[in-house]
Amino acid sequence: MITRRRILAATGGLAALAAETTSAAAQGTQTGLSITRSGSQPSRKGPAENFTGVVRVDSPFRGAAPARVGGGIVTFEPGARTAWHTHPLGQTLIVTAGHGWVQSESGPKEEIRPGDVVWIPPGNKHWHGATATLGMTHIAISEALDGKTVDWMEQVSEEQYRR
Ligand code: MN
Repeated sequence: MITRRRILAATGGLAALAAETTSAAAQGTQTGLSITRSGSQPSRKGPAENFTGVVRVDSPFRGAAPARVGGGIVTFEPGARTAWHTHPLGQTLIVTAGHGWVQSESGPKEEIRPGDVVWIPPGNKHWHGATATLGMTHIAISEALDGKTVDWMEQVSEEQYRR
């Protein structure tokens, strides 16, 4: 795209650039591809009933039916975490920055770092978030069952978080 624009700038000027933009938009319609541009969706705050601490959600996405995939990029400040919850069809987390913790109720919390991929099976009660001293960002992906991707439960207490 940058290359095309450079060529257009060198050869055609604004009229050609406008024509190219129209052409690209029409092509997008033809191919069915959808590109949600960076900055077109405002950051959202993770709601206090489902999260402890400061949590930000960016670039939320959802596939059009019959696809049922959805998710977003979630950033946790140090000490921030989800409440306990389950996902009806499971969840994949891909850590992209910082250090985090994830814990299933059946085991100890585990540290996760950039590049780590976590699979949470359907119905598994768990939480995820930043460590106490370093923030963490992950991409979260889950499929909806009957339109629902998550069942929220009680908050993760300070004692549960620290142990
Ligand atoms: Mn989860």
